[in-house]
Amino acid sequence: MTKVLELDRVTKLYPGATPVVALQEASFTVEAGELVAIVGPSGSGKSTLLQVMGTLDRPTSGTVHIVGDDVASMSDRSLAKLRAMRIGFVFQQFFLAQHATALENVADGMLYTGVKHRARLQAASEALERVGLGHRLDHRPPQLSGGERQRVAIARALVGNPAIVLADEPTGNLDSVSGAAIFTLLKELNAEGATIIMITHDRELAARLPRRIEVLDGHIVADGRES
Ligand code: ADP
Repeated sequence: MTKVLELDRVTKLYPGATPVVALQEASFTVEAGELVAIVGPSGSGKSTLLQVMGTLDRPTSGTVHIVGDDVASMSDRSLAKLRAMRIGFVFQQFFLAQHATALENVADGMLYTGVKHRARLQAASEALERVGLGHRLDHRPPQLSGGERQRVAIARALVGNPAIVLADEPTGNLDSVSGAAIFTLLKELNAEGATIIMITHDRELAARLPRRIEVLDGHIVADGRES
């Protein structure tokens, strides 16, 4: 199996008058094709973990490898490139461009990959089809429901075929019916091969995923797979 993500004794300290150790010696490995929940209560270190896994922030100590590359040895520029090619992000707040169509929003997910405009639009159209929005290509976010907006964001995360999709509370802003549909979609996309790491405070949701990494006070306190 290919290791797509490897954290080895990652510690993150936020300095200040009262320094905070947000992560303490966190270690785990994620392999291609996994569907993993990172679960913990508010303040446990989930967002910090997301930042570190997504190469948006560097750990104070410890190492992060993304598909074999040691993130610490890379310049900000090559890190941005690695992020664009290897990692897809899905956020609770969607973060779509409001004046752009669904198609353009998704095509922008490949903006820094070197793929030509026409090919990006073709891939975006296919990705939207894949998330069930083939009939909404020209709609702008304000013309879409919350669940549909999150589908666009998921299509944008997946369009470049990243090694890892990081989904931060992807159902957090949705009503229960749309949330359940997004949850099902993520499971389907995983069944089709996408490696997905979902961050959530919702233990019930996490319990329905095949692997759960539990975070508490900056420590990984459990890492369990379905038997
Ligand atoms: P979660 O996402 O699980 O709510 P966070 O990773 O946001 O947890 O926070 C973990 C701990 O680190 C908390 O105690 C939080 O107050 C602290 N923290 C988070 N970000 C910062 C920061 N930029 N500066 C100082 N402390 C921070």
